[in-house]
Amino acid sequence: MAVLEGLEFGKSDFVLLDEVNIEQFMENLKLRFEKARIYTFIGEGVVSVNPYKQMDIYGKEDINAYRGRELYENPPHLYAVADAAYKAMKRRAKDTCIVVSGESGAGKTEASKYIMQYIAAITNPSQRAEVESVKNVLLKSNCVLEAFGNAKTNRNDNSSRFGKYMDINFNFNGDPTGGHINNYLLEKLLRGGSDDMLKSLHLHNDPANYVYTRDGATSYNDRYSHNAVLSALNVIGFSEEEIHSIYRILGTILILGNLQFETDRESVLVVGMEDVSHIAELISTEPNNVTKSLLYRTVATGAGEVIEKGHSEKEACFGRDAFTKALYERLFGWIVSRINAVIEVKDYNPVLHGKNTVIGVLDIYGFEIFDNNSFEQFCINYCNEKLQQLFIQLILCQEQDEYKREGITWQHIDYFNNQIIVDLVEQPHKGIISVLDEACLSVGKVTDTVCLESMDAKLGQHPHYTSRKLAPSDKTMEFHRDFRIRHYAGDVTYSVEGFLDKNKDPLFQDFKRLMFNSSNPVMKEMWPDGQLSITEVTKRPLTAATLFKNSIVALVEKLSCKEPYYVRCIKPNDMKSPALFDDARCQHQVAYLGLLENVRVRRAGFAYRQAYTRFLQRYKMTCEYTWPNHLMGTDREAVEAIVTQHGFQDDVAYGHTKLFVRTPKSLFTLEQERAALI
Ligand code: ADP
Ligand code: MG
Repeated sequence: MAVLEGLEFGKSDFVLLDEVNIEQFMENLKLRFEKARIYTFIGEGVVSVNPYKQMDIYGKEDINAYRGRELYENPPHLYAVADAAYKAMKRRAKDTCIVVSGESGAGKTEASKYIMQYIAAITNPSQRAEVESVKNVLLKSNCVLEAFGNAKTNRNDNSSRFGKYMDINFNFNGDPTGGHINNYLLEKLLRGGSDDMLKSLHLHNDPANYVYTRDGATSYNDRYSHNAVLSALNVIGFSEEEIHSIYRILGTILILGNLQFETDRESVLVVGMEDVSHIAELISTEPNNVTKSLLYRTVATGAGEVIEKGHSEKEACFGRDAFTKALYERLFGWIVSRINAVIEVKDYNPVLHGKNTVIGVLDIYGFEIFDNNSFEQFCINYCNEKLQQLFIQLILCQEQDEYKREGITWQHIDYFNNQIIVDLVEQPHKGIISVLDEACLSVGKVTDTVCLESMDAKLGQHPHYTSRKLAPSDKTMEFHRDFRIRHYAGDVTYSVEGFLDKNKDPLFQDFKRLMFNSSNPVMKEMWPDGQLSITEVTKRPLTAATLFKNSIVALVEKLSCKEPYYVRCIKPNDMKSPALFDDARCQHQVAYLGLLENVRVRRAGFAYRQAYTRFLQRYKMTCEYTWPNHLMGTDREAVEAIVTQHGFQDDVAYGHTKLFVRTPKSLFTLEQERAALI
């Protein structure tokens, strides 16, 4: 029972802390990190601290050690959690999901990769070719999405993607048959292909590099990661034409990024017409169309007349930026949908093949609290409220199910229900998102400050909402700018500055038409809404916040029918140092990830449970009735003898196959006695 082994490394499961408080939690976390124990269980989940160095714990032998074992038989590891999720899926035909959360740089994507690799390694023992090819495509699709979807920066704070969800489908044999990917971008907020994304594809802000798109993708060099992406695209089944189109769009994004405007006697012009021709060539259209979209917008007048209105220089810049972002967003969305078309399970016949089960892997930002929190943090934190709510419910259900299976009486568990905070954000007509949308859709000139005032008016009474105006003495907030939400993980002050702009769809219809009219079929396909005529588009597009809300609601729905397992990732310091455990930074993350709450829920009923047979094996030497062999009938009766001899019969409950222990203390007594005997 590895859970109790090696106390010099700290406790390998946080439910075994003597008391659940932040001091003990941090002490244990730090001790383990310093002893290079980067993983620690919380029940069936694991907390991971980014080691920032290569660990020798992901080899073939390690995979074999975890394969098919029970959680507590091995030291804490991602593999233990992956195996638990896989076993539940296979043995009980349950859909499961593994939620990997933490802040940027905490190790989520690495963890998701190890989980995928583990699942790939333990499935298809007979090496059937069609399963191998499914696995290969699943793993490669990860590589492509990493390259396109993530920016590797110091803090990753301009990374455009904050979440990725991948379903892996399995047949009755437990072998992968396909999958589906959902990406969560803060849609309207992309910086339009970040420098790092472009770098990782080996495109640089050097015009010489654009040449490759002209002479057929040959002039870039064969640096490893770029080749890996290209080969992954090939394996997934992207055609040459599609790959060229991808690079053409990336080239366009690069040129647009440098494009300038100037005002010459009232009229706005593009600086550098060669860039315009170049863009036109890349997106397969006439230079004139490009110039027009950059400098004019088509609007319908009240009388139904269609006119062209010239941009101011500022509007032109704004339009250019929105276009750049949208190009990237559409490209990314299209790549994901192409991958999905390839990995989608085809021809699955449940009668023939048995139940099709799913393991979902969610890689998602945890709570974000910066010095300045804006719309992005607001969205991410709202998402975390939703997930927290779902998971407390799911964990409680999971516990309840196990109690039912084992025939143990359910006991009431007290926990904070954060529905009230979720409502504050998403309630129709009353919540923050609805106030924001109203402000965005209103005709008059509504500023961020005005929007804050309507939030104050509508939400001033809400116990989890405040602002400087409502609490004038609280100088940690600014008048006319800040509001604060009391989240389950703590208070966060948001600056309303920029909320309205970020919430609006900033893209002029002219760009959509430009792209739809491209003679490149791939690009055309990415912009179907470009075919709407100007009079058809008067309907307002959904706002960023509402799109975001809809995607999160859909995500929660997907997860809510699955049995959840968790990986909570912690970044030990901001220096990427393998040796530094920054106490304050770590403690914040423990709070934001809701880890103490997690331990409390896990411990609320019974801190520990163990199958009779295994319990007996480990402790039989501590009891005269069971050593060397028990003559007591069933394993359960033998375990009862051990428990009674040690006097903690009031601390346990007997299930059909497992012993449930309320407090960890009883186990430590046993463990000490065992240690003294061997
Ligand atoms: P996130 O997805 O949470 O932003 P990543 O998974 O990209 O973070 O991890 C950031 C970096 O931390 C990685 O590039 C890697 O250098 C390091 N890292 C993360 N997890 C591990 C691990 N298990 N072993 C070694 N290094 C790791
Ligand atoms: Mg990541």
